[in-house]
Amino acid sequence: MKYPEISNFINGELTSNNNGTLDVYSPLDGSVISQVPISSPSGLDKAVKAARNAFKSWSKKPIKERVQVFFKYRNLLEENTEELANLISEENGKTYSEAKAEVLKSIELTEFACSMPQLVTGEILEVSRGVECRIDKHPIGVLASITPFNFPNMVPNWTTPNALVLGNTMILKPSEQVPLSANKLAELLKEAGLPNGVFNIVHGQKEIVEAICDHPGIDAVTFVGSTKVAKIVYARATSKLKRALCLGGAKNHLIVLPDANVEMTASNVAASMSGCAGQRCMAASAMVGVGKVDHIVEKLCDEARKIVPGKNLGAVISRAAKERIENYITEAGQQGAKILVDGRNAVVEGKENGFYVGATVIDYVKPDMKIAKEEVFGPVLSIMRSETIEEAIGIENSSQYGNAASVFTQSGSASKYVADNASAGMIGVNIGVPVPREPFSFGGWNESKFGVGDITGKSSIEFLTKPKKITTKWNPESKINWMS
Ligand code: NAD
Repeated sequence: MKYPEISNFINGELTSNNNGTLDVYSPLDGSVISQVPISSPSGLDKAVKAARNAFKSWSKKPIKERVQVFFKYRNLLEENTEELANLISEENGKTYSEAKAEVLKSIELTEFACSMPQLVTGEILEVSRGVECRIDKHPIGVLASITPFNFPNMVPNWTTPNALVLGNTMILKPSEQVPLSANKLAELLKEAGLPNGVFNIVHGQKEIVEAICDHPGIDAVTFVGSTKVAKIVYARATSKLKRALCLGGAKNHLIVLPDANVEMTASNVAASMSGCAGQRCMAASAMVGVGKVDHIVEKLCDEARKIVPGKNLGAVISRAAKERIENYITEAGQQGAKILVDGRNAVVEGKENGFYVGATVIDYVKPDMKIAKEEVFGPVLSIMRSETIEEAIGIENSSQYGNAASVFTQSGSASKYVADNASAGMIGVNIGVPVPREPFSFGGWNESKFGVGDITGKSSIEFLTKPKKITTKWNPESKINWMS
């Protein structure tokens, strides 16, 4: 094994938890690179105690003092970009340049957190003569963040810098498939000067997630992962009266009109469906071609053929994921869809045991086929055809999900129609991956998100704080009135 067995990170120390382990694979070549503990609820208990204890002093520090740690952390992310990107690539399978982009995004997220003192100055108003009302934002307490495999560095950084700068303490439960990046973040936070217990990591699977939802010492839960688990976590955490925000899966539709710029559309759609091997909740999974778009589909296939596994296309997370994705392609073909570019059975020389699926384009998919409705989470684009833009919107609206949708056109009114009528939280116009950048916030609609507000940007402040309203009167001569 390239790396020693992973440990939990509790109260600033690596802590072992003897409850069994799981192998950690590198999807790049299928080798076992480490082992991750399947923590028991008693491991969680220790982390909760540490986080509760640290909350007492961390939450009392002025925000300008807390933020200093994150100026240093931001610089450490930058100084360690190469090592972090290599680690992400190794355990997740994405290419080095995709992994590096992930770290750059984490830097941007941390820079936003560093601006928090400017954003949470509170509100104050003289509400009647001599009487003022002010609102202060207080941390909620201990936050548990449960994260998925697809962005091992960025998704933990969606919550960690904002939550901690705002005075909360945390327990991170990373995906058991990518535990190495999480521990590296803990190391950098410690190096940046974060006090012990403010940030803790407990590794594990279902059992530990359920224990997080139930634990009375945890005040709030964020979850990012599949819709199936998002629903379970949201229902269980809120039934225990916790604040919860749970982001789920996606099936993003790109609506392509015949007047779209051919080169730009083809390259954007190809990049969106194949980036990070299609394992992005913002990936283009379905395209709806409106009217005569054969010229664009042709160019798109040319672009897809330039995407080479092991070169500019990374691996998918596991052997099981490879099989699942290839089964979707096979079934779509059997049901009458036309496989224009076929990525099944991809093999990378020298990495024959890696988990690769080539870029795949399937045309004439029908909206009621399984591949059109379900999240494939691989480098596969299903193309559906429609006569009108209204019909295309109807297809988009029928999805259970609602993370993102995009339109490719030269027409302002057509783009406005899609932006107004698509049932998704994030909309792109001539952009294949419409991730809102800071200070804008990230979050979908429908079954792509459960809970109120978004997970990043300004919207996260409401989730991560509770407002205290203070009404003050110092002038004894002011009369008692109808409000008194
Ligand atoms: P997943 O739901 O399988 O796992 C997410 C987390 O939940 C992991 O930490 C895992 O250990 C835990 N978990 C898994 N099964 C569980 C169970 N039965 N009970 C309790 N906990 C459980 O998701 P994944 O495969 O790691 O990630 C891919 C999914 O994440 C995709 O659906 C993708 O769309 C979604 N995702 C969504 C967003 C978003 O912003 N909406 C962002 C990234 C990823």
